[in-house]
Amino acid sequence: MKKKSSLNRPYLRIFFDCCQVYQRVYRNPSGEAYAGCCPRCLRMIRFKIAPHGTSSRGFIVS
Ligand SMILES: [Zn+2]
Repeated sequence: MKKKSSLNRPYLRIFFDCCQVYQRVYRNPSGEAYAGCCPRCLRMIRFKIAPHGTSSRGFIVS
């Protein structure tokens, strides 16, 4: 029996400097980047995932 793993997709906690708000940004289905948008002004952001990974789990978008 296979379970869909969409519920435990990895995410980053992003601080959107434009609206001073935190939002979870999930890894995209292909697994090569994190993509999301600001919950207030809907500005799209995207982080490429480095091959060696990232040491930080938090990012600030300005
Ligand atoms: Zn915003």
